Amino acid sequence: MPLNTYIENSREEIIRSVQELIAIPSVGGDPVVGKPMGEGPYKALEYVLDLGRQLGFTVGNIDGYAGYAEIGQGDETMAILAHLDVVPAGDDWTYPPFGGEIHGGKIYGRGAIDNKGPTIGAMYAMKAVLESGIPLNKKVRIIFGTDEESGWRGIKHYLKVQPMPDFGIVPDANYPVIHAEKGILTIAFKKDFSGEEVSSNIEYIKGGNRENMVPDRCTCSFVSKRDSDKILTHLNTFKEYAKYNMKADFVPVDRKLLVESIGQSAHGSTPELGVNAIGQMLAFLCTLGLGESPMEDFIMFLNNKIGMEYDGRQLGIDMEDDVSGALTANLGVVDIDRERGRALVNIRYPVTYELDQVMENIYKKAKECDVDVEIVGHNPPLYVPKDDPLIKKLITIYKDMTGETVEPITTGGGTYARALDYAVAFGAQFPGRPDLAHQKDEYIEIEDLILHTKIYARAIAELAR
Ligand SMILES: [Zn+2]
Repeated sequence: MPLNTYIENSREEIIRSVQELIAIPSVGGDPVVGKPMGEGPYKALEYVLDLGRQLGFTVGNIDGYAGYAEIGQGDETMAILAHLDVVPAGDDWTYPPFGGEIHGGKIYGRGAIDNKGPTIGAMYAMKAVLESGIPLNKKVRIIFGTDEESGWRGIKHYLKVQPMPDFGIVPDANYPVIHAEKGILTIAFKKDFSGEEVSSNIEYIKGGNRENMVPDRCTCSFVSKRDSDKILTHLNTFKEYAKYNMKADFVPVDRKLLVESIGQSAHGSTPELGVNAIGQMLAFLCTLGLGESPMEDFIMFLNNKIGMEYDGRQLGIDMEDDVSGALTANLGVVDIDRERGRALVNIRYPVTYELDQVMENIYKKAKECDVDVEIVGHNPPLYVPKDDPLIKKLITIYKDMTGETVEPITTGGGTYARALDYAVAFGAQFPGRPDLAHQKDEYIEIEDLILHTKIYARAIAELAR
C-alpha cells in the first residue's frame, strides 16, 4: 500500500494514540524500583512499547530508562530519537492539560507537540513503511527517551548499554532541518570576600533563577537606613534617565531599604528579546557610586564586563560566523552578599569556534580583575554542513512533501539531536507555527501531525533503503 494511503487510512488511530499518550501525565518524578524517572514516564514508556508491539515492531525496554521499537534489517541502524516525558502542566489552561481534547482541528494537551504527537507520528510512519512493502537495508529504530526535560539520564543510560546508531533524525524541534546548533556554555564568576572590609552598605544582591533565562527580577537590600535618602533620590533620577523599570521600598520590620529591578524574561538563547533585570541593577549601583572593596570590585566587574550586554563584547568574546551567526551571552543569575559573590553567565557560541577560543579571553578578563571562573556546563556545538548527504536528502524530502523551497536552519538552542554522534533535528514544528512547547494550551494541529507522519515515512523509506 502506498505510504500516504496507509497514513490517510489510519488517521483515526494516529489521533487516538496521541490522545491516549497525552492522557498519561509523564512528568518526571521520584524514582521507584525499576522506574528511575518515576511512575509517569514509565507508564508512557509502557504505552509506546505496547503500541509498537501491536504495530508489529520489535520492542525493548532498557531498564526503565529508555526503550525502543524497531523494523527492518541490516548492519546499519537509522535512529529516530524522541522523548516521552513532559514538563509540568502549569496553570491557566483553556482545556485540561492531560485531556487530549480536540478543538478546532487541534489536539490539546501537555506534550502534544513536545514530544508526544511527533513520537506517535514517527511510529505510524514506520508502520506505513512496513505496510508499503518497500525493502529496507537498514534497521530503523525509534528510541524513546524518558528524561529529555531534565538531564537526559534516559538516553545516556541507553547509550551505555546499546550501540550508538549510525545516524539519526530527531522530531523534537523544527522543520525543515536544523544543521547547526551553537555551543552552549555556562560559566560562573566567583569571588570570596569573607573577612574583607565592605565600604558600601549593600547587604545582598539577588537576581534570576536559571542561567538560561533572561532574569526579570533583581533585588538589592541595603544594610541600614544610612544614605536611604541619597539612594532614593538617585534611583528616581537614574530610572528616568535610563528608562529602566525599578522601584524601592522599605521592609516593614526593620525598615531596611530594598531596591527592585524589573526586566523582561526571555530564553537564554535569545537574550536580545528580553530585558536583563540584573544588568539594570548593576548599572544603578555603579552610577550610585561604589567604594573600593573586593565586594564592590566584583559588582563593578560584572557591570563593566557584561551588564546589559548580550554580545560578549566587553568580555572579548563577540565572535560570529557565517554558519550560525553571533555569539550571545546572558547574565542569568547573581547572588552576592557581604561574604561572597557568584554570577552565572550562559553563552551560546558559533559552531565553527572551539571552547578554548571562547574561554581564553574570559580567563584573561577575569584574572585582570581578580575574579575566579568556573565552567559549570558545556555542550559542544552540533554542525552538519549543508552539503552533507543527510541534510541534502532531508531538504529534498521536505521540499517534495510540502512544495516549499527551504534552506537548513540553525539554532542557539540545544536539541535532543546532540545526544547522538550523527543526528539532526528534523521537525516536527512547521515554520510559522507558534512555539507552544512548555506553554499553556500546548497543541498539535491534526493536519500538521498527519503531514509530519507522511514526511517521516518518506524519510525512513529513503534513508533506510
Ligand atoms: Zn522536547
